[in-house]
Order: sequence, then C-alpha cells, then structure tokens
Amino acid sequence: MIVMKFGGTSLQDVESIRRAVDIVAKQQDRNPLVVVSAIGATTRDLLHLGDLALSDSVDAARVSLASVAQRHRDILGELNGRPPDPSAGDKISAYVDDITRLLQGISLLQEFTPRTQDAIIAHGERLSSLLFVTAARDAGLDAVSIDAGGVVITDARFRAARPDREELGRRARNTIAPVIAENRIPVVEGFIGATPDGVTTTMGFEASDYTASLLGAALNAAEIQIWTDVGGMLTTGHAGVDDVMSIRELSFDEAAEMSFFGAKVLHPNTIEPAVDKNIPLRVLHSACPERKGTTIFGSTSNTRGVVKSIAVQDEVVVVRLRSPHATPIHRAFWSIGETLDRHEVSTHLVASSGRRAVLVVAASRQLDRVLAELEQTLELSPSEHGVIVSLVGEDVGATPEIVSRATSAIEDVLILTAPYGASDTSVSFVVRQENADEVVMKLHTTFFDKDVRPGVFVRMEGKTRS
Ligand code: ADP
Ligand code: MG
Repeated sequence: MIVMKFGGTSLQDVESIRRAVDIVAKQQDRNPLVVVSAIGATTRDLLHLGDLALSDSVDAARVSLASVAQRHRDILGELNGRPPDPSAGDKISAYVDDITRLLQGISLLQEFTPRTQDAIIAHGERLSSLLFVTAARDAGLDAVSIDAGGVVITDARFRAARPDREELGRRARNTIAPVIAENRIPVVEGFIGATPDGVTTTMGFEASDYTASLLGAALNAAEIQIWTDVGGMLTTGHAGVDDVMSIRELSFDEAAEMSFFGAKVLHPNTIEPAVDKNIPLRVLHSACPERKGTTIFGSTSNTRGVVKSIAVQDEVVVVRLRSPHATPIHRAFWSIGETLDRHEVSTHLVASSGRRAVLVVAASRQLDRVLAELEQTLELSPSEHGVIVSLVGEDVGATPEIVSRATSAIEDVLILTAPYGASDTSVSFVVRQENADEVVMKLHTTFFDKDVRPGVFVRMEGKTRS
C-alpha cells in the first residue's frame, strides 16, 4: 500500500479536490490510503471563531462560522451530483451544531483552552474528509471515511499532542488494513487524534504530514507521498529568489534538517516514522502531478558536501547569557534546559564558551517568563530578534570550503551568531530580519547558479516555483 497526503493548498476548491481525486485514481492499483488536511485556511478561520466568541459575542462568531460552513456546502453542492448523498449535508449541519455549542461554552466561561481549541479546529479536517470522500465516490472510487480519533491515539497535550505509536499501529492494522485488503480507499483526517478516552486532540499546525508518515509506518507502506503546491523540496522556499530549483533526491537527514530549520513543506516530525521503517517519502506537486518531485530516502549517492537547500527559520531570538563569578556556564546548562522545557520554548541553536553562552530560540509569548527566570541566576544581555538562514546538505557542516564561500558571499552583513560544528548536515547564520532577503539571495546565487550538479537539481520553468 501507499499513503497519499493532500495539504490544504491542494484542496482549496472543487477543481483542486477533483484533481486530487484524479491523482488517487491513477494509483488505485497501489492500494492508496489518503490523508487530508483542512481545505485552504479553514484551521485558521476556526481558531478565529473561538477568539470572536471570547472577545466579541457568540453571534459574531456564528456569522463567521456560517461562512466557513457555506464554503464547504458550496463545494459539496457541486460535487454531490451522482448520486446525491443527503447525509453529507446533514453531517455538515451536525458539525456546525457541535461548533456552535463549543462557542457558547467559550463565551459563557470566558476561556478558550487548548482542549476546546482542538475540539473546534479538528472539524476542519472532518469537513475536508467529507468532501474528499464525496468527490472520490463521484469519480467512481470506493472511498471510505475513517475517523482519525479512533486510530491516532495521543496523549492529552492539546494542540501539540504526541501519538502512542504502538496503539496507533495496533488500531491501524485492525481498522484500516482490512479496508485496504478489500481494495477500498480509506480517507483519514490528518492532524487530529484523540486521547485513549476519546477526547479530540491535534498534533500541532501542519501535522497532517506527520499523520501520513505515522500511518505509513504503521502499515508498512511502500511509499509516502506528500502532495502540495510546489514541485518538491526546493533549493529555497524563501520568497523572491529567482531560479529556484527542485531537488531530485534528499536523504532522510537532509530533509529532517531542512524542516527543522524552517522548510515548512514538511512538518519536522514527518521524517522519523519513515526512517524507522525505511519508507521513501515523496514530495509532489498536486497541480503538476507528472513532475517527479523530490524523493527522500535512506541516503543519497555522490552528493556529500553539496549544498542542497537554503532553509529560513523566521522569528527567532538570540539570547546571550553569562554566568556570574568565575563559574563555567556549563554548570547552568541543566537549569537553562529545564526552564526552556517547562515553558515549552524550543531551541534552534546553542553555543558556549567559558562563562558565556548564546541560545537561539523560537520567539514566543512565554519567552519573557523564561528570560525573567534565567535572570535570577545568570547575567543576560538584551536579546535580539532575527532569522536563521541555514545551508543544508550531507557533510556541508563538515566542509570548511563551504563555510568560507558562504561567509565571503555575505561579508557585508552583520551576523548575530553562527554556532558552527554541531551538525554535519548544516551551517547556520543568524541575521537580522531586514537582512534575510539579501542573505538568502546571495547564498542562493553562490551555491546554485554555476556548476550545478546535473541530475541533482531540476530547474523550474520561469521564475515561479510551480
Ligand atoms: P500544504 O498545504 O500542502 O501542507 P504547506 O504550505 O504546508 O503546504 O507547504 C508548502 C510550502 O512550503 C510551499 O508553498 C513553500 O512556500 C514552503 N516551503 C518552505 N521551504 C520550502 C522548500 N525548501 N521547498 C519547498 N517548499 C518550501
Ligand atoms: Mg503543510
């Protein structure tokens, strides 16, 4: 079997949904399992409903909810031709009622907790799954909707739930495998799960990719396909760069490093389940399905020391610390880590020397509290906001020539920090936000303009990434 995941940008309207169904139909003989994200920006819209119920009124939120529902009803109306399935419209109404009750609760209690957020936003995937199944049946496919909450069992960390992979595996084999064995096509909501006692959770924004790889690993898929709005993993996803190319092959390490450093085409957790079972991942363009896209697997041949991509992680903060007296900073490592963990602030880069350390962490609301706590035992310099620009490729971090080419290409730019040597697979520079475009462009020109290895990259037509 194979897994085929379609992102929100690939399921925006009737045309794109039909195109996705067509892509599935063409691979029907490979026993596909389909994972869907919410259509377009539905997740964001649903979250906004809760904010409206909190700050304005249930009525205001219901007006917005009506437009979300209508968007789905319109699509359903166009799809639901042959033969019409009256229960589909009823299901949308039931979801709307459910959301309305939650909005009333939010307004009444004046709180919109992560648990309630999950209860609301999970409907985005339920709605899109309904549309996809309808479209697939319209096209003559034997599609079956599978409730992700019955399979993807997670802990109760709402908005960032972690799956119980053993239980997920058992349930996938018990409930999904028999459907596939009957040559039917299971359609599963991405991103969402449930606690063992059935409370809805979500695994973090963009986690549908993760659902796809979890299910692929559980069912020993031959391949996991991520269908999106670009022609594969690109030499950069940063806007405004000319001559962006698609990368033909990446190793698991390279892809993991790219997503860790901000290439949002893949959710960072996606790689691990695929690695465990050595299942190739493919990133493909849903509007141009004939393109080869990018294949990610165990290791790539002959491209060690080649820069494959430039990843950009926006909105990071550079925190500089100094331990008081003559204490080496490493004695504070444990408590720094514990503080960051407790406030759920993630760290991208760390370096230290003697009494000093620099941390590059994700900008977040909790950071102020982290800094206040650290300040009780350590001296802090004012922190600076920036972006991380990373060159990614196997052995790139261990190739001095690449580092020197990169630094000379951007010698005019102030580098806030560039901790070096921790990873063989990347070299990262932290620069101010206003320098990001210039840095990415210069590095892209340096590493991708001339002498590009044939067969490693595929040029895109024109300047578009599509
Ligand atoms: P989906 O709705 O399919 O999940 P996403 O928006 O999550 O789509 O991911 C696709 C987007 O990821 C692209 O449109 C692109 O803007 C962005 N992106 C960032 N870095 C890269 C990269 N290196 N290669 C491809 N896309 C990238
Ligand atoms: Mg995505």
